[in-house]
Amino acid sequence: MRIDVLTLFPDMFASPLGFSIVKRAQDRQLVNIVLSNIRDFAKNSYKKVDDKPYGGGAGMVLMCQPVFDCIENVQKQDENPGRVILLTPGGKKFDQKLAQDFANEKRLILIAGHYEGFDERIRIGTNAEEVSIGDYVLSGGELAAMVIIDAVVRLLPGALGDDDSAACDSFSDGLLEYPHYTRPEVFRDMKVPDVLLSGNHKDIENWRKQQSLEKTKQQRPDLLK
Ligand code: SAM
Repeated sequence: MRIDVLTLFPDMFASPLGFSIVKRAQDRQLVNIVLSNIRDFAKNSYKKVDDKPYGGGAGMVLMCQPVFDCIENVQKQDENPGRVILLTPGGKKFDQKLAQDFANEKRLILIAGHYEGFDERIRIGTNAEEVSIGDYVLSGGELAAMVIIDAVVRLLPGALGDDDSAACDSFSDGLLEYPHYTRPEVFRDMKVPDVLLSGNHKDIENWRKQQSLEKTKQQRPDLLK
């Protein structure tokens, strides 16, 4: 898989992409993450990529030209033009289902905005899908892109040590995951449930299913609808 990120702050990605599962997936060549700096495509001498909004109002708006040129530049680097995603607070809410959908793609192009956001013609002219990571406003799309990359990359076959662990994760079957325990058997008078020590796989499986349902009912009843 190839993931392009178009951003004004490529340096922000070094640490989140440089550790753990996402790093390992890149080392194993399961994913190629390519960062492009939108500012490199500014045509003016000040490398300006934003301007005042028509009609007045606060803040600055990302201009069409550098963003279009940046998209076209990355698209011509690969025969697959990719699924183009504009990160916006008003977009479709990112969830595990969309993460799986993205993980099935060969190429994603994530465009991180800044300031007041994008000139509307960027959305119209690129036909990009708008995606939000939640109902709150971040200063820029970089953190949103990192969240999406992390959630998608761990779903790529071979990214996790044990492929089954993604299939059991919360949301993958519409429910929250059952609780986990590890050594010791007793910690501050809190004991590991007997069933997990029983060695009876059928009973353990049933207990986990029931716990998963119970936890979802209590914490996220909306998921059961
Ligand atoms: N004025 C915009 C609004 O009210 O919808 C907010 C712009 S925000 C300060 C700057 C950029 O951060 C956006 O263009 C977008 O790329 C990114 N961003 C902010 N919140 C986001 C969210 N919840 N999901 C995805 N991207 C977000």
